[in-house]
Amino acid sequence: MRFDLAEMTSPEAAEAVARSRTAVLPIGSVEQHGPHLPNGTDTYAAELVAREVADRLDAMYVPFGPYGVTPIHAGHPGTVNLRRETFEALLTDICTELIRMGVETFVLVNWHEGNIASMNAVATDLQDRFDCTFVAAQACYVAQRLYREDGGELTHGGGIETLAMLAHDPALVKVERAGEPARPPGALEMDAMRRSHEVYGFITDVSELATDGWYGNPGWATPDRAAKFAAVVTDGVLDLLGDVLKARDTRRSLQEKE
Ligand SMILES: [Zn+2]
Repeated sequence: MRFDLAEMTSPEAAEAVARSRTAVLPIGSVEQHGPHLPNGTDTYAAELVAREVADRLDAMYVPFGPYGVTPIHAGHPGTVNLRRETFEALLTDICTELIRMGVETFVLVNWHEGNIASMNAVATDLQDRFDCTFVAAQACYVAQRLYREDGGELTHGGGIETLAMLAHDPALVKVERAGEPARPPGALEMDAMRRSHEVYGFITDVSELATDGWYGNPGWATPDRAAKFAAVVTDGVLDLLGDVLKARDTRRSLQEKE
């Protein structure tokens, strides 16, 4: 059965919406990923997981487009940065159309940290304006948690991102060109600073973290691990997604009683 909106006919789309009322959108970015990974790494990773999530939920997969909000990579060859306004307008328009089509639940499968603030803003805004539910699935963080014990790290162009690209298309992975990552003084502290959940700061260019625009251990990724990548990360997403939807249903039934 077709589940990609762009590949469906109009009657097939109507049927797909009526079946699950759920749309799954992949969100990533096109940005430099060093000499060994494609610029579209984040988008391909998001698409891989989102397709599997949509398939398992019997939901509709809705292509978003490859670009994201990525000012820290702007100006480096291969990067295309969307302004926040552009990204938010695009996401708002796509989701509004889907709501008109009958979609009630949105699962945004994201693989790029720079999109998170804008994603959250659009999701809360649309949920406020329409009778719909948004769920954000930060697939990159799910992967980070799941692979941590096994030595996998979520770094820009590192092990987990290389794994995702091996899973997508091994011909796009050129680990032999990676060399050793070079990090400027203070890079570890800068990375910890920007990723803290309590008191945190911001960086303006990826060179503050990595001299050549990437860091980590691409060699960690193996074909064996890659074969299971989409299934493993999707399992992780779906485990938590159930809890989020249950919380929504509880809230709804409480509201109905009021
Ligand atoms: Zn990436």
